Amino acid sequence: MTKVAKVEGNMTKQIVGTHCPVCGADEAVHLIDMEQVPAHCNLLWPTREGAVTAPRGDIRLAYCPQCGHVFNESFDPALMAYTQDYENSLHFSPRFQQYATSLAASLIERHDLRDKDIVEIGSGKGDFLIMLCQLGQNRGVGFDPSYVPGGGEGTAVPVTFVRDFYSEKYTHYKADFIVCRHVLEHIQNPDAFIANVRRAVGNRHETVVFFEVPNVLFTLRDLGIWDIIYEHCSYFSPHSLARLFRQNGFRILNVTPAFNGQFLTVEAVLSDGGADSWSADEVDKQQMGQETAVFAQSYNGKVALWQERLGQMAASGERAVVWGAGSKGVTFMNTLKTAVIEVVVDINPRKVGMHIAGTGQEIVSPAFLKTYHPDAVIVMNANYQEEIWHTLQDLGVNAEILLA
Ligand SMILES: [Zn+2]
Repeated sequence: MTKVAKVEGNMTKQIVGTHCPVCGADEAVHLIDMEQVPAHCNLLWPTREGAVTAPRGDIRLAYCPQCGHVFNESFDPALMAYTQDYENSLHFSPRFQQYATSLAASLIERHDLRDKDIVEIGSGKGDFLIMLCQLGQNRGVGFDPSYVPGGGEGTAVPVTFVRDFYSEKYTHYKADFIVCRHVLEHIQNPDAFIANVRRAVGNRHETVVFFEVPNVLFTLRDLGIWDIIYEHCSYFSPHSLARLFRQNGFRILNVTPAFNGQFLTVEAVLSDGGADSWSADEVDKQQMGQETAVFAQSYNGKVALWQERLGQMAASGERAVVWGAGSKGVTFMNTLKTAVIEVVVDINPRKVGMHIAGTGQEIVSPAFLKTYHPDAVIVMNANYQEEIWHTLQDLGVNAEILLA
């Protein structure tokens, strides 16, 4: 097996394009191109000028038939400097909060996380770690190089934060459970990252490792084209996710779709030489190859349909807003570059008053719609449709809801 570490360092587009970041194979098939998209969908831009001059990069999506992995072969890590303005907390949404709470309860139940030591990699502001510790009376250590002191440390829960990457250096932190959510898809070299986690686990065979990432099968099957963002260099399938952990000395307990199939979770322990408890056979890689081809064809069709629809709205003087200033909303705006949409709605008060990276629209609160009177609200995530419908009812806003 070709280790990805060999191509790390002075990566050129050509080398990335020929080597899968998971398995190292050089058989990648080209899928779609998205040129000059914002490098950070979730950076908050206080001014319109800052937003429209935000750094941009190209997405050249490739599929590795060898391990079932999708990745951006044009990814340039130099464009990825996360700052403290980075805002990707989904915790403001009750729908997501509900998912996180039930996930935490399920993890505590299934792995008997009571009076245990939990490590979270990429803990952000610490919401999930604090929840796990509160619900199961556990102790937590969160690792995040972008951690802002003062976040979760004020709580009565025994949780501490280390402003660093989790590595071998921290093996002395006992971990009964290691959790890492929505980090791996941002890592240019996931193989080296998981190798690092493997080393940090040391020889603790009882430690359970839990990772959550977006599910590329959802993107492919539901044509979730707005999920393709520059920040994600990797798009995992059950195959590529299992392969990554297996090749780094883990035994797979399970790989499971979550959040209505939009996410994938993997649970693994150190390999003792025995067979996995889970098999990837159910997901046919050949079928996935066909699905990626269909996706590439359908991508342009979906973009064209939306252009036509927005054009009709412009012609008839209708007002539309996008609901959701997260990555999907930013991708939608930057792909369609429409003048019809003047504002983007978000329930996160930290985003209100800021601007959409690339296209520059102002982000407004739902209450803004009471005076704006949109004819249509374009919902970026179907999972939030009901929540948004109720909010619009409460506000007395009578608008057509469209799913992006
Ligand atoms: Zn591969």
